[in-house]
Amino acid sequence: MTAPPTIDLQGDVVRPGDLEYDSARAVFNAMIDRKPLAILRCREAADVVRGIAFARQHDLALSVRSGAHNVAGNAVCDGGIMLDLSPMKYLQVDPDHGSAQAGPGLLLGDLDRATQQYGLAVPLGVMSKTGIAGLTLGGGLGWLNGRYGLACDNLVGAEVVTADGNVLRVGLDEHADLLWGLRGGGGNFGVVTSFTYRLNPVGPVLAGGLSYPWAMAGDVLRFHDGFMATAPDELVTAVSLALDSSGTPQLSIGVCWCGHPDDGISVLRPLREFGPPGQDTIASMPYVALQSAPDAGFPLGRLHYWKSGYLRYLTDAATDTLLEIAAAMPPGTSGIGMQGLRGAASRVGVDATAFPHRAAQYDFLILAQWADRRDSERNIAWARDSFAAMQPHLEDAVYVNNLGTEGPDRVRAAYGPNHQKLAELKRRYDPKNIFRLNQNVPPAGG
Ligand SMILES: Cc1cc2nc3c(=O)[nH]c(=O)nc-3n(C[C@H](O)[C@H](O)[C@H](O)COP(=O)(O)OP(=O)(O)OC[C@H]3O[C@@H](n4cnc5c(N)ncnc54)[C@H](O)[C@@H]3O)c2cc1C
Repeated sequence: MTAPPTIDLQGDVVRPGDLEYDSARAVFNAMIDRKPLAILRCREAADVVRGIAFARQHDLALSVRSGAHNVAGNAVCDGGIMLDLSPMKYLQVDPDHGSAQAGPGLLLGDLDRATQQYGLAVPLGVMSKTGIAGLTLGGGLGWLNGRYGLACDNLVGAEVVTADGNVLRVGLDEHADLLWGLRGGGGNFGVVTSFTYRLNPVGPVLAGGLSYPWAMAGDVLRFHDGFMATAPDELVTAVSLALDSSGTPQLSIGVCWCGHPDDGISVLRPLREFGPPGQDTIASMPYVALQSAPDAGFPLGRLHYWKSGYLRYLTDAATDTLLEIAAAMPPGTSGIGMQGLRGAASRVGVDATAFPHRAAQYDFLILAQWADRRDSERNIAWARDSFAAMQPHLEDAVYVNNLGTEGPDRVRAAYGPNHQKLAELKRRYDPKNIFRLNQNVPPAGG
């Protein structure tokens, strides 16, 4: 056995045995327990350059951590170098030009709070603790997608450290091929040390939840599906199915209207009147309040196992299966989510960005989440069985940011028709596949 290299890595380095080692290597999903040789806390691009060079010199695995929220846990590696970008939290908002430059260590809430001071926003995800970096590089689906598209559609520039240590400015006019790849191709092409976004006007939103007695769930799902087929772009909804504290399944529909509030009241009326719901919490609120509303439901330290796909057609058979798998959910904190992708996000061409899933559809997610390791087997079995039951109703496609470690066929399904173009881009920018701890696209030609 060869001895591990001496860690002569310069800078802010956390090593095994250091007081902070365990907290620095921890990621959101407590299923992941990996032990890097060293964690390099990066403050600027030069640190990233050094980390990449060190890993290459010693032939070590290299992982990249920003917000650490990814369920697959590729932000941390065993026995290699973990580049921790969480200290890179700089942010410059330019309201006059409608743009923002953001460091990869920022979380959604950091960016939302700063841009909302000017009544502006980047369309990001739906909770405030997720990292902007992994979310944007995989696509980024949230409440504003119907009006303004995905996070990656609003990425107009970046600073990227490539595998050979070059620091590239990437934009619509320079290295545009690489910008294309960053818009949904994940961390395959380099380490992004700065994101430049286009900002969009977002005022207070009309938002909240509608929840229904379980006996109405099938009818509500069907009505909601038809209602959303013709709803304006300003409206985005997310369906969730979970158990209440007594173990009874619950159906609820989260709603966000980001247009004029008066229009929202009338647009939402039919949805609010159908049933009617047992509870209706829809009200005008600051966008940042909506963004942090789900945070408490996803605390750190829980174990996660996710299975996901896209649901384009909510047929009666799909609805029946959905209700069956929801009713079989283990008690606790798991759930099933169906986040709407629509409007502006669905009108972008399939090959216009690396993110290919552009039909109006639900991002369908079976999210098993539990606190006690003794419940692991039961929760994982439920997620797997439920996914197997739903699979005939799902597209052969999956959102890359929902993927666990599920093998090359599922990775191909995540990049869909853009996989080959991504493989060619990979050969150009990372022919030795230095950045392989991700949902990996191997370089074209082997
Ligand atoms: C509770 C919860 C809620 C979520 N909600 C949403 C949502 O509403 N919408 C949505 O679209 N997604 C959502 N996600 C999924 C989320 O988009 C992914 O987990 C995403 O990868 C998180 O990014 P991160 O920076 O926090 O993760 P990390 O784990 O730090 O990074 C994930 C991967 O991205 C790559 N990467 C990260 N940073 C960089 C970088 N700077 N340069 C190059 N590569 C990099 C690496 O390959 C890394 O392994 C949610 C996840 C969770 C756990």
